[in-house]
Amino acid sequence: MNRLSSAVKQLLGFDLTPAQLAAFRTYAAELAEWNEKFNLTAIKSPADVEIKHFADSLSCLPAIRNTQHATRASLIDIGTGAGFPGLPLKIVCPELKLTLVESVGKKVAFLEHIVGKLELKDVTVIKGRAEEVGQDGAHREKYDWAVARAVAEMPVLLEYLLPLVKIGGKALAQKGENAPAETHGAERAAKLLGGSLAQLTPVELPGVVEPRYLVVFDKVAATPAKYPRRAGLPGKQPLK
Ligand code: SAM
Repeated sequence: MNRLSSAVKQLLGFDLTPAQLAAFRTYAAELAEWNEKFNLTAIKSPADVEIKHFADSLSCLPAIRNTQHATRASLIDIGTGAGFPGLPLKIVCPELKLTLVESVGKKVAFLEHIVGKLELKDVTVIKGRAEEVGQDGAHREKYDWAVARAVAEMPVLLEYLLPLVKIGGKALAQKGENAPAETHGAERAAKLLGGSLAQLTPVELPGVVEPRYLVVFDKVAATPAKYPRRAGLPGKQPLK
């Protein structure tokens, strides 16, 4: 985990503890083993897992830690796949109350396995679609943070994320080079859903040339009851 250690030092300015490094080692080993059977993630080489999965997930930390309820925040990760960015954040911030949402069964099985293996507390894994979870009273407008990486275009993503965020909370999207254009194209969708753009910050991952961005929206008003629309509709007819 040398690459991860130095990336964290460079990006975030602190050293991972031996226990955190051991957890990331276990996570990488289990991911590699499961990837052989189930093809969970496209990124597979050990170097890429350290930087493009673990360090990239942790690059959300400055945004999350800057807020008032940073340490005991509730955070829901939508379309988490094999746990990104939610699980690396939980390894480094054990006090986070984490909910992981994923619709594909084999990925959910891996999530349940790795949460158990790493003995992580206060983690809920949900097999389901963002559109359904967002209309469920147990989750709707209950979270300080809703986050996602590599799940959908911005207007679609905002329809997944903003209904889950309590007023005063935030939605965070990890995005690539199209982030500025995508974000400005989604301003009307954000407003419709009760969001307002708060931050569009470039992130430089060590050794990665493609630009990365953190895009943060404040939840400033309640989301109208009709959003999110039924499963599949946000993707087919993105809010304009
Ligand atoms: N966030 C992870 C990452 O960055 O490695 C996974 C990214 S993967 C490209 C997108 C994931 O989102 C897939 O695992 C897919 O099953 C999930 N997904 C897409 N739309 C979803 C939805 N509406 N509800 C729940 N999961 C969804």
